[in-house]
Amino acid sequence: MPVNRTNYQNLKKELSGKNIVLVAVSKTKPVSAILELYELGHRDFGENYVQELVQKAALLPKDIRWHFIGHLQSNKVKYIAPLTHLIHSVDSLKLLKEINKQAQKNNQQVNCLLQLYIAQEETKFGLDEAELQNIFETLDEYPNVLVKGLMGMASFSNDLKKVKTEFQSLKQIFEKSKNLESNRYKPEILSMGMSGDYKIAIEEGSSLVRIGSILFGERNYATAHQ
Ligand SMILES: *Cc1c(COP(=O)(O)O)cnc(C)c1O
Repeated sequence: MPVNRTNYQNLKKELSGKNIVLVAVSKTKPVSAILELYELGHRDFGENYVQELVQKAALLPKDIRWHFIGHLQSNKVKYIAPLTHLIHSVDSLKLLKEINKQAQKNNQQVNCLLQLYIAQEETKFGLDEAELQNIFETLDEYPNVLVKGLMGMASFSNDLKKVKTEFQSLKQIFEKSKNLESNRYKPEILSMGMSGDYKIAIEEGSSLVRIGSILFGERNYATAHQ
């Protein structure tokens, strides 16, 4: 299951000059596919499952920047905290506290994004604006985390107007959040856009896109491990 090199080069071209980070989402894909992109010079990879990330990180070059983008349970933070470049999916204060605790243990700083709920779908995780506000109120108490921005997922929908509106609302929240004062908040990254909607996300101000299927083909969840 090789990498689609043409799509990769085209995507790189499309994003270059716009200063947008490309995270190649490699969940369910073999180590060989990651290595293929690595050899083309790619370093940012995204994974959704703790065990899968831990296994892959052990086998792959140490200069890969791992992005954790899936739903994260607090009791699993300890496995990935030392490995990840950026955790995109912080969706509760409880999780943030646990990340801080593990980071403290390892004497490190863990970079994260707060995940906002922007889709009109029951299945998506994320904070609403009030919960975001709550987190900001106590953020200074967590010296070992650095929140570098926000992440969100739009609805899986053919209704492009709806998707656009959802990205717009995330961008608005991001801009507003820049007024918040905390030395644990350094808003630089707005992580939004996947294979199906990244063009709209970019139009609406994304600074990081998370792309899987365009690069690696469709996923087969039957062979995936959690
Ligand atoms: C799987 C996943 C992606 C990539 O999805 P594609 O549609 O394959 O590009 C991006 N973000 C998150 C949070 C994901 O879970």
